Amino acid sequence: MDVEKVFHMTGGVGVTSYAQNSSLQKKASDKVKHITLDTIQELYRTTTPKSLGIADLGCSSGRNTLSIVRDLVDIIVGTSRRIMQTTAPPEFRVYLNDLPTNDFNTIFKALPDFYRELRRVTSCESTPSPSIYIAGYPGTFYGRLFPDKCLHFIYSSNSLHWLSKVPPALYNKQGRSINKGCIYLSKSSPQMVSQAYFEQFQEDFHLFLRSRSEELVTGGRMVLIMLGRRDLDHFDRGNAFLWELLTRSFKILVSQGEVEEDKFDAYDVHFYAPSKDELEDEVRREGSFEMNRIEMFEIDKEVGEGTSYGTAVATAVRAIQESMLCHHFGEEILDNLFEHYGRLVDEEMAIEEIRPITLLVVLSKL
Ligand code: SAH
Repeated sequence: MDVEKVFHMTGGVGVTSYAQNSSLQKKASDKVKHITLDTIQELYRTTTPKSLGIADLGCSSGRNTLSIVRDLVDIIVGTSRRIMQTTAPPEFRVYLNDLPTNDFNTIFKALPDFYRELRRVTSCESTPSPSIYIAGYPGTFYGRLFPDKCLHFIYSSNSLHWLSKVPPALYNKQGRSINKGCIYLSKSSPQMVSQAYFEQFQEDFHLFLRSRSEELVTGGRMVLIMLGRRDLDHFDRGNAFLWELLTRSFKILVSQGEVEEDKFDAYDVHFYAPSKDELEDEVRREGSFEMNRIEMFEIDKEVGEGTSYGTAVATAVRAIQESMLCHHFGEEILDNLFEHYGRLVDEEMAIEEIRPITLLVVLSKL
């Protein structure tokens, strides 16, 4: 499956959209927002560019996209007025990147109100409001996206755990998956499966770092927030377990004859949750960045009104996986699949909590 052509979060603003089902992701990025803002503030104080280039990689659509842009602009305008005591803040070039089938239109439609609101909150009697130029940049972040050295700050939240593709080494000469009966790494997967995922991660993350190193100015910063794992163990009750439950939901549909077994066996996700060590090793090996900070954190369980935690997780995962599942299995299976999934998550949570792990990495360009 060509990830670049098919993969996107569910667009629009309807009940199953990413925009309506991304509060878990917002919680994760909000938890470390103070570090994101400190990092861009530090960068601005030490480099004071007149035109500040910012990119958000894997921006998706919905309130998470523009809310981080507002926070970044806001902190720099405040810094330039209060601390630097300059008369005019820099101009902002903001590049929003995602895969080509992302719902960029929903973001663009929100821009007039966004600009108006930003002018209102950043206006001040003595200095004019800053100029902000926002553009969409469709394409994969596993490769070059921007001209040489045009960026000062790169942000990416909840995106880099997506690989560029399902590792080709998962398929044998006949094109059949060696990870039969599972959609991601699981306890029953052969060792070659974890090796295939790990090597795909290494190749992809190396390419990501190499590409960004050419686009960032020296001293430029990156804040990367992504799902990860606690240690070398691939099968804790963190992220892999949520895929395990989706596998179990599929098996119910297979047993009910709603999904063909062969079709299920052929489906694998293009996801990898790295450990801290794996990330650090790649940064060292690639060599263009200094690691300023790396942290692991968990987000608190969301207690929504009226819906169970399992249902909230099911709608969140559906908004993320729908495009790939529809492409492979067709739309008809989705309601049933995610009903089973929500129930299984609730059942497992009643036994013991599932705690997804998020990693935060701050890098500066050497
Ligand atoms: N940053 C937002 C959205 C995260 S969802 C937030 O924190 O809520 C992850 C996004 O990454 C999706 O929109 C997906 O399309 C995008 N993505 C995944 N792989 C990508 C790639 N190779 N290049 C660009 N975007 C990618």
